[in-house]
Amino acid sequence: MNHVNRMTSRAMASAKKPGAAAFGGAAHDHGACIADALMAAETICRERGARLTKLRRRVLELIWSSHAPVGAYVLLRRLSQEHESAAPPTVYRALDFLLEQGLIHRIESLNAFVGCVEPSEAHAGQFLICRHCGAAAEMRDRRVNKAIGRTASDLGFTLEEATVELRGLCPACQASDDA
Ligand SMILES: [Zn+2]
Ligand SMILES: [Zn+2]
Ligand SMILES: [Zn+2]
Repeated sequence: MNHVNRMTSRAMASAKKPGAAAFGGAAHDHGACIADALMAAETICRERGARLTKLRRRVLELIWSSHAPVGAYVLLRRLSQEHESAAPPTVYRALDFLLEQGLIHRIESLNAFVGCVEPSEAHAGQFLICRHCGAAAEMRDRRVNKAIGRTASDLGFTLEEATVELRGLCPACQASDDA
């Protein structure tokens, strides 16, 4: 019994690590990731009095369709299959709103967007990005932010954008032959 409890709590601890689900592959319940993200977005927007319109919510849902960052063009293509009126400005405005509210992050190196795992608190994201499958795991390591902030201020540098994008291979792709 104790053994089982220990296992469960260990499994829960690793599942709780922000970003761990991104490298969970087919083994994780991605429906739960999407549901959690949408629920968090609704709560946050309600608390802030920000309007999460149907379209903004749908764009967020499309971004969360996987853990790989999605480009605006792909979003537009998918949306225009559902709404004839989905024009580029509509999508860009929805993306601006989601960025402003901290519900998504922009991955500059891919010119793409990914859902935030902890949107309740404003932060610069740090990402481990798999060069093979494209999955991006958000690290929420305060020590990294602190170190960046301290070094920048030691050099008298004013930080404006502090997103960290790190490239490599996720556990599943390390195990696959064609990576
Ligand atoms: Zn997931
Ligand atoms: Zn984030
Ligand atoms: Zn991968």
